[in-house]
Amino acid sequence: MGHLTPGLPLVVRLAGRLVVAVGGGPVTARRVRAFVDEGADVRVVSPWVCEDVLDLVREGRLEWQAREYAGAADLDGAWLVHTATGDVLVDRRVAADAQSLRIWCVDATDAASTTASVPARATVELPDGPVTVAAYAGGDPGLATVVRDAVEDGLRRGALPLRRTRPRPDGLGWVALVGGGPGTDGLLTARGHELLAGADVVVVDRLAPRALVERLPAGVRVIDVGKTPGHHPVPQEAINAILVEEAQRGLGVVRLKGGDPFVLGRGGEERAACEAHGIPVEVVPGVTSAIAVPAAAGIPVTHRGVARGFTVVTGHDDIPTLPTGGDHTVVLLMGITRLARTAELLVLHGRDPETPVAVIERGFAPTQRTTIGTLSTIAALAAERGVQAPAVVVVGDVVRLATPQDEPA
Ligand code: SAH
Repeated sequence: MGHLTPGLPLVVRLAGRLVVAVGGGPVTARRVRAFVDEGADVRVVSPWVCEDVLDLVREGRLEWQAREYAGAADLDGAWLVHTATGDVLVDRRVAADAQSLRIWCVDATDAASTTASVPARATVELPDGPVTVAAYAGGDPGLATVVRDAVEDGLRRGALPLRRTRPRPDGLGWVALVGGGPGTDGLLTARGHELLAGADVVVVDRLAPRALVERLPAGVRVIDVGKTPGHHPVPQEAINAILVEEAQRGLGVVRLKGGDPFVLGRGGEERAACEAHGIPVEVVPGVTSAIAVPAAAGIPVTHRGVARGFTVVTGHDDIPTLPTGGDHTVVLLMGITRLARTAELLVLHGRDPETPVAVIERGFAPTQRTTIGTLSTIAALAAERGVQAPAVVVVGDVVRLATPQDEPA
């Protein structure tokens, strides 16, 4: 003998259709918000309503008739009825009237005989639109919620596949520029995981979280455009063209980049290339190596009483004049090849030659290494220790806060 009421989950389109909700308490509030979000025309019949319903009334998103339920005429024209008055007799009457009019009715107080139920739901918004999973355990909404939460957790972590199985009707895909963080998979955002789970193609950088890419299912095409310093296997123009062409073929493309797409990452150019071709682009920020790699070495880029601000700048070209005060941190990306010249310029521009400098190689990798010197010594030290890219250079008194590390043998 089962104790959970069986039933068939059904997806209904409420947009532009009348839903009548009898009652004005918190259960009604939760449900009518969902109906309104679907675009339904919602009418609430109740002598009083709670604050959450009142908010929707004030926003002009639903109609409130402030009176007692009067009978079947109140349900006239409705596609769906919801009753949660707190008075079982009234709810029974509403349900019976709906029944005689053959309108589906959610009776919140009668799980056993309600003709319709609202399942617990989890929704992921993909560039293509929402994917919704419904959980229903008739008569035990708590159980449905627990199941829903577990599914939702899997969706947020990108643990559940979200790839389309049918071609997009307009044949146009999408591009997401996803900041992958500084190379370790734990620092990719939840949104990044969701989009990866929905991608048909992943275009990946050398400094992006590679471990994640290796775990992608076999059906996902990975295009490696990884750059090494002084050696650019795929020029930026060609990367832009790949993004545009794959999306034009109707595929969902994640461009997985190291750090943040908009911090010395040419994400702006990639976005512009897509937009120029009418391709929808979403930009997902990432944890930038400019802040995270110093942090991995124990260095805060600002610190009360030590540094009030910081500048992130490429060390690839002659660096511009920057604030020279001791309370300002300079963070250099791509700064290894020209480290000697950069240190010299910082001193020429007025920075104290004794300013501490840290070079952190391979942040978050097991082989992460920090080299500490001053503006006058760092170039020679780095050369002596064979420092290599990728590395972040930090200039400023905050370097004194670095975690002491054991000298490598
Ligand atoms: N958009 C990226 C930066 C791209 S430029 C971001 O926001 O992090 C590439 C430079 O980033 C490298 O030359 C190096 O200076 C730095 N970098 C990125 N990941 C790094 C890591 N794990 N360890 C050290 N430096 C890193």
